Amino acid sequence: MQTTTVKAFGTPSPEADLAPISINRRAVLPKDVEIDILYCGVCHSDLHTARNDWGGSVYPAVPGHEIVGKVTAVGSDVTKFKVGDLAAVGCIVDSCRTCNSCKQDLEQYCLNGFTGTYNGQDLHLGGQTFGGYSEKVVVDEHYVLSVPQNLDLAAVAPLLCAGVTTWSPLKHWNVKEGSKVAVVGLGGLGHMAIKLAKGLGADVTLFSRTPDKADDAKELGADHVVISTDKAQMKAVAGEFDLIIDTVPYDHDVNPYVSTLNISGTLVLVGYLGALENMLNTVPMILGRKSVAGSVIGGIAETQEMLDFCGEKGIVSEIEIIKMQDINTAYQRMLKSDVRYRFVIDMASLKNS
Ligand code: NAP
Ligand code: ZN
Ligand code: ZN
Repeated sequence: MQTTTVKAFGTPSPEADLAPISINRRAVLPKDVEIDILYCGVCHSDLHTARNDWGGSVYPAVPGHEIVGKVTAVGSDVTKFKVGDLAAVGCIVDSCRTCNSCKQDLEQYCLNGFTGTYNGQDLHLGGQTFGGYSEKVVVDEHYVLSVPQNLDLAAVAPLLCAGVTTWSPLKHWNVKEGSKVAVVGLGGLGHMAIKLAKGLGADVTLFSRTPDKADDAKELGADHVVISTDKAQMKAVAGEFDLIIDTVPYDHDVNPYVSTLNISGTLVLVGYLGALENMLNTVPMILGRKSVAGSVIGGIAETQEMLDFCGEKGIVSEIEIIKMQDINTAYQRMLKSDVRYRFVIDMASLKNS
């Protein structure tokens, strides 16, 4: 298959810093859209993958799944996009399209496994897929999103993962006017969860370990802030919430948050992936019909629905623009929760290097 070589940033091993590398992109197939990447958000999952936190990372690894850019070529059968359009790609670049999940627009739960934008199995070129820390990407139009024209493009990028990952549970658990929603952790996902829940009309509380984020949280739309390390503050919100979205990336005790759920409430984990060291106590769950659930990203149609909603409401991410060359420092800052609230890479810095 014909390919073109493009500049990218990736890592050869879990221990190494990210550095310039070259990768191949396939020549456009009839259904493909080629996108010149203008901005790419930096998700904590990028860091988990670069460092092999979840196991299963294949090297070299080129992260990045919050991609926005301009269409530079389309295949002969593409109907949704033309050259010059703005376009976006999130976490999924392929799925089987025939299983029960895919047929219901739930590609993220494809029974045959969706192809991740990075560290997936490239169905066309073989080997692993390479993400958005690169000049260009080629993706089947089914997995390419339209970008609302009225929003700041760089600040749209994080909607492609942080946005849809929090939107999907808000919609699934039917959050609406008057719902009581809490968000655990004010980072990339957390700040989008606040904005989207607020946009849906919910009363929103932030749980944070970081007292000096409280003012920001209020500015982002949170109605209340609870410092999760303060036992009295935690006790004061016992039995409050219909839905809690927990974005904490590392193992932590979930039980104190279950106590703050209302009867029939749900705590949905979207951050930490793995076994919980502090076992779940079933007593409050059984006696209050409470659920602890999980959720992964969102489907393609749902991602478009979220982008359109953000266009209508004027919702974007709070971002700090960085150069591609600053990615290793950005990762170090992300590990210290020192991101307000999403790094976005200006891809001109890679192209001009
Ligand atoms: P992030 O920007 O680093 O934010 C995480 C926030 O969690 C931090 O700002 C901090 O908030 C809190 N936190 C961090 N370490 C903590 C710890 N040890 N204990 C308690 N709280 C802690 O990360 P992100 O990009 O939002 O991603 C969050 C997690 O979601 C990552 O694990 C990522 O891989 C995962 N993710 C999952 C999906 C999915 O589909 N399920 C999609 C995207 C990302 P405070 O300072 O306010 O406490
Ligand atoms: Zn992500
Ligand atoms: Zn499928």
